[in-house]
Amino acid sequence: MDRAAQLLGTVFGFDAFRPGQAEIVEAVADGRNVLAIMPTGGGKSLCYQLPALCREGVTVVISPLIALMRDQVRALREAGVEAGALTSGNTTEETDAVFAALEAGRLKLLYMAPERLASGGTQSLLRRIGCTLIAVDEAHCVSQWGHDFRPDYLAIGALRRSLDVPLAAFTATADEETRAEIVTRLFDGQAPQTFLRGFDRPNIHLAFQPKNQPRKQILDFAERRRGQSGIVYCGTRAKTETLAAALRAEGHAACHYHGGMEPEARRGVEARFSREDGLIVVATVAFGMGIDKPDIRWVAHADLPKSIEAYYQEIGRAGRDGAPAETLTLYGADDIRLRRTQIDEGLAPDDRKSADHARLNALLGLAEALRCRRQTLLGYFGEQAEPCGHCDLCDTPPEVFDGTEAVRKALSAMLRTGESFGAGHLIDILIGNETDKVKQRGHDRLPTFGVGKDLSRAQWQAVYRQMMGRDLCRPDAERHGAFRMTEAARPILRGEEGIELRRDTIQTAKARPAVKT
Ligand code: ADP
Ligand code: ZN
Repeated sequence: MDRAAQLLGTVFGFDAFRPGQAEIVEAVADGRNVLAIMPTGGGKSLCYQLPALCREGVTVVISPLIALMRDQVRALREAGVEAGALTSGNTTEETDAVFAALEAGRLKLLYMAPERLASGGTQSLLRRIGCTLIAVDEAHCVSQWGHDFRPDYLAIGALRRSLDVPLAAFTATADEETRAEIVTRLFDGQAPQTFLRGFDRPNIHLAFQPKNQPRKQILDFAERRRGQSGIVYCGTRAKTETLAAALRAEGHAACHYHGGMEPEARRGVEARFSREDGLIVVATVAFGMGIDKPDIRWVAHADLPKSIEAYYQEIGRAGRDGAPAETLTLYGADDIRLRRTQIDEGLAPDDRKSADHARLNALLGLAEALRCRRQTLLGYFGEQAEPCGHCDLCDTPPEVFDGTEAVRKALSAMLRTGESFGAGHLIDILIGNETDKVKQRGHDRLPTFGVGKDLSRAQWQAVYRQMMGRDLCRPDAERHGAFRMTEAARPILRGEEGIELRRDTIQTAKARPAVKT
């Protein structure tokens, strides 16, 4: 698993697994038969791509979607992974190149359209090249009663039998009949290890607070949980040491942990934490992997996590025993800026940086969500949920005002400029700022130019942040964070629906830094 976690960062550029991914990756890499049901957008492809890199030999990926296969192959190649596709969309040269790479034993992932399976040579080809894993995307296509039935999928079961290799099947379709049919047809009725789990951790209470007196906020939180085991995550090594000292000064059992410590000292803290009751570990994100303590009662973030995935993973260390656990995440202007800078100054290629900004934006959207935080969080991972009654926003709904007019203006600026710009430029238009860019593009002649003078730049940024948090618009990672409108925004634009915004974050917006554009 260490290797998988390492490849997650180096090859894919992610800082944490999404809910469910770690367990599935481990099972697939281990060579078990797996059926994983994950919502669309949940991150299925990583669950076979990453194990493919951990295993010897070639992983064959069967998918019905040619465009998607080509996209994935391109992305993998850009990340330095040897991947190829055999589909009807190939040119002769492309197909020749794939065969050459296969024969040379270079390929790690071979994407294949299901109709290939019908051709006689495929099985012997796969045997010869050393196929060691079959991954099946959109596995529900094997169901004869479903909408997406693909007769060619019926050949997959025979392929698995003849190659005698593990098979990992993925789908977003969760109903029981479809699952049963997948098991029958792909696994000959022998139950694979099945992952069908909501991502919700209902025993964990969720809360965010803007930083105002950050040290006091953490000390107060710890005080109310005196004697319980907890983790405080900090953004810097230095801070773990000062905050641990501050906690000790208040009479808590607390120690610090970070990647700069001697391995022995680190192991000492890990051992003490799992053995002792009521120890607080103040740590960087280096602490956690491999910590397998079921009764961690609370997790606090003294600084904003790196991404929404990192947030979920870090709070998820609390309450593994299922008993109530509590979390608190602080966020402030400085760490938003710090995270932006870390991304911008990192070594990642530009498209990866935009994706990182988008993930940070998602976390900010969660921080300033209007209603149930759990609903917002799970929604981001593709899961629908009812208001949970177990988060700070369900406990105390924030004060709201009618933001329909503001949101309509914000959307209109977006649409009239072809959904090609980020918040910075859109706000220039709204507040009537005649920048060079505005004049060059003739955006000072738009009807939206200057219609938003009633709000400040910072307040408009808060409006866009809340719109992102409500998924009314999304920064497009592929297009330098340009905002696109989502379907959810259409009724508001048409005047069929109104929308409320949080008053507190708009009022205090002057103190907040920019949404990255
Ligand atoms: P699906 O489950 O619909 O096949 P994908 O595999 O296409 O989903 O992943 C959806 C998106 O999530 C992609 O943009 C991918 O880059 C992103 N993603 C997947 N895993 C992670 C992760 N661990 N951290 C951050 N982003 C991730
Ligand atoms: Zn809630």
